[in-house]
Amino acid sequence: MATPDFRVISTDDGDGVTYTCGCPCVPTALPAADGSPGHEHCCCGKVHFVGAGARSALESYLAERKASRKREPEYEVGATAVTVGGAPREVAWAFPKE
Ligand SMILES: [Zn+2]
Ligand SMILES: [Zn+2]
Repeated sequence: MATPDFRVISTDDGDGVTYTCGCPCVPTALPAADGSPGHEHCCCGKVHFVGAGARSALESYLAERKASRKREPEYEVGATAVTVGGAPREVAWAFPKE
């Protein structure tokens, strides 16, 4: 899968990262004030993390879900970087495989 079209979006809480999801939502994740990752898990099952250590935070999150849920999809996982507020931020994503 190609990297989703991540882009910066400004919110009431500051600049976050979103992408065109394909559902009506605008899934937006913001790093915390200390730079640690924030995430959004969209209604359609796609999840992304933004912030320092986004990839490992995503992997722990998925491992925890897999351990605690009966029906958890397989995910396509990737990571990239997006410049937010002049600084590159780690972005990690996991989209359910069709
Ligand atoms: Zn949605
Ligand atoms: Zn969605």
